[in-house]
Amino acid sequence: MLRDEGPLTPLAGCTDLYVALNFGTLKDRRFLNLRPLESLRAIHARRDTLTIGALATFTDLMRSPLVRRRLPMLAAAAREVGGVQIQNRGTLGGNVANASPAGDSLPVLAAADAVVVLQSAAGTRRVPFAAFYTGYRQTVRRPDELIVAFEIPAVRGRQWFRKVGTRAAQAISKVVMAGVRDRDRVRLAVGSVAPTVIRLPKTEATLAAGGSRDAAHRALADEIAPIDDIRSSSTYRRRVAENLLDRFMADTSRRPARRSAKREGG
Ligand SMILES: Cc1cc2nc3c(=O)[nH]c(=O)nc-3n(C[C@H](O)[C@H](O)[C@H](O)COP(=O)(O)OP(=O)(O)OC[C@H]3O[C@@H](n4cnc5c(N)ncnc54)[C@H](O)[C@@H]3O)c2cc1C
Repeated sequence: MLRDEGPLTPLAGCTDLYVALNFGTLKDRRFLNLRPLESLRAIHARRDTLTIGALATFTDLMRSPLVRRRLPMLAAAAREVGGVQIQNRGTLGGNVANASPAGDSLPVLAAADAVVVLQSAAGTRRVPFAAFYTGYRQTVRRPDELIVAFEIPAVRGRQWFRKVGTRAAQAISKVVMAGVRDRDRVRLAVGSVAPTVIRLPKTEATLAAGGSRDAAHRALADEIAPIDDIRSSSTYRRRVAENLLDRFMADTSRRPARRSAKREGG
């Protein structure tokens, strides 16, 4: 239908589209309802790869034992999205396709080196998450393609997610960060501080080389480009990004609490 009857706007949970509809920016569009495509909602793992269907909702992600075990930072992000109603309807595919730099799942997928699986009548192609966004709300997805799934290779190390918004629910991120720390290797991605979600290669390299906190802050400052907008100021976002980086380093350097044999016995 996308090939033969287009242009059609795919519709999943409709939580972003409905807002746009109310703003009157979707006039004269025709829609393709993906909701009945149950097979695009599956979450499964084969060997090292976790595959999450594009129609998996945030509630599905929170409840999935596979996601909670293999990608707990995604379950943590899902818990922070909107309120219960939005979590029940909003999908991972919609969050990514909507391409807002404030999308909460985006830093997680970026830090996990996820792959976006795109499908059209012509075939399937796999795009590394780092190459999916080309600019503010721009992606490489063609109008005849659907996002059908995300493939996430095994993530080794400690995973971490933190969103800073105005309040605990129904708030869009002012800054959102996800990271993985595996001994010296650090992977960090941040949203709401640039036109797209970004990885922080210089900051990652500084931390991996054992650089000081100041050096890491300087690298971070070079890599982000926050703006002043209705939700926050650029200065505030810079400060919060630094604080999150410090928090990431502190939280991931702690050893997991060891339970003594005595306590376990008791
Ligand atoms: C009250 C409220 C609170 C919110 N809070 C948050 C929040 O805290 N964090 C956050 O990140 N977001 C939030 N959102 C935004 C929204 O809920 C999410 O972005 C959600 O993931 C969108 O998914 P959806 O399935 O509803 O997408 P839809 O609205 O159905 O679609 C969104 C866009 O993606 C396209 N699309 C959808 N699925 C596909 C697909 N499989 N292939 C190709 N294109 C596709 C659509 O054509 C459309 O352009 C909030 C929205 C509302 C209304």
